[in-house]
Amino acid sequence: MAYSALSQVPVAVSINTDSFLPRSQFKGSNVFFIDKLRTSGLSLDFKIANARSKGRSVICMSVQQASKSKVAISPLSLEDAKEPPLHLYKNKEPYTGTIVSVERLVGPKAPGETCHIVIDHGGNVPYWEGQSYGIIPPGENPKKPGNPHNVRLYSIASTRYGDSFDGKTASLCVRRAVYYDPETGKEDPSKNGVCSNFLCDSKPGDKVQIAGPSGKIMLLPEENPNATHIMIATGTGVAPFRGYLRRMFMENVPTFKFSGLAWLFLGVANSDSLLYDEEFSKYLQDHPDNFRYDIALSREQKNRNGGKMYVQDKIEEYSDEIFKLLDDGAHIYFCGLKGMMPGIQDTLKRVAEKRGESWEEKLSQLKKNKQWHVEVY
Ligand code: FAD
Repeated sequence: MAYSALSQVPVAVSINTDSFLPRSQFKGSNVFFIDKLRTSGLSLDFKIANARSKGRSVICMSVQQASKSKVAISPLSLEDAKEPPLHLYKNKEPYTGTIVSVERLVGPKAPGETCHIVIDHGGNVPYWEGQSYGIIPPGENPKKPGNPHNVRLYSIASTRYGDSFDGKTASLCVRRAVYYDPETGKEDPSKNGVCSNFLCDSKPGDKVQIAGPSGKIMLLPEENPNATHIMIATGTGVAPFRGYLRRMFMENVPTFKFSGLAWLFLGVANSDSLLYDEEFSKYLQDHPDNFRYDIALSREQKNRNGGKMYVQDKIEEYSDEIFKLLDDGAHIYFCGLKGMMPGIQDTLKRVAEKRGESWEEKLSQLKKNKQWHVEVY
């Protein structure tokens, strides 16, 4: 059972009707994927009307009805610890969790599949926002016969309270790794990623081996509730930021009343590939002074030079503001595929030079001040 954000008084509802779970969890031929083209400033009613006008059926519009009140969370003892939990379960002695749900997050035109996976850890593998779980897929490691597979890390996409607000689950945002033969262009299932496919194919009730939690780089600094947090994500790199944003805007956390600015830049291939867009759009609607949300759709939008729109192009568009915020102490976070960093670093360097600043000096200062947080894989 979970607490719903639909009314001021927390109401018990089943996890599957959590208003903030991805709409795309509803599978089948009638599946509605919200028109994910950027409709900033447009109401959700518009989105619905727009989608309806395209003759698609609309399922679960609960986001539209959600009130601005925050969701009650428990147990509040999860706020007591002074340090984040680390390595509670080792790779060799993992915790056995249970899959609660596996939901496809992306629309039909997304290249590839990304799933939202909720795992029940019974409160036994607590974590903080920004940490990762290690998952050990079932079966034997072909490179080390007789041994289990190596662990794979996944950023946790929920807050410490989980999507059901009771501290007993963790959510992952997993992209299925698929191998295409470079010569034939055909999928070769024998070379598909082991763990991501295990997770995306798993069913409620399946068991999953968890190690961790791990990671301190992406923890959300909470000393100053008025701070600015600039989050740069590509694809599943949005996972830790979903956790931060739920903590800032969705949950009623007694020890962290966020009053600063959270600015999310999300880069994906196309509008069908957007992740958690309804949640983020809702924050934009309810907290316009505290949340900004910019997306780069590489296959649908053009940058100002007529090329593909990548997340660094969006950063460049707002570079003056971003640099000013960094000068004023903003935290900046990067998460996603390794390949995102060179393009972003080049852009930041170019912008710094245009402003007559040395990027090397600025970067080393940001690192020294603990404003710079990178987790790429
Ligand atoms: P593997 O089985 O490890 O295979 C890796 C790749 O090799 C696949 O693309 C596979 O198709 C290919 N391959 C397999 N066999 C061959 C072959 N014979 N020849 C050529 N290629 C082959 N991922 C997420 O989706 N979400 C996250 O939030 C996330 N967070 C992460 C956080 C951290 C800190 C780190 C380090 C990684 C994170 N990852 C995340 C990546 C994740 O850990 C895995 O690396 C990823 O899911 C692939 O694992 P796999 O077991 O599916 O693929």
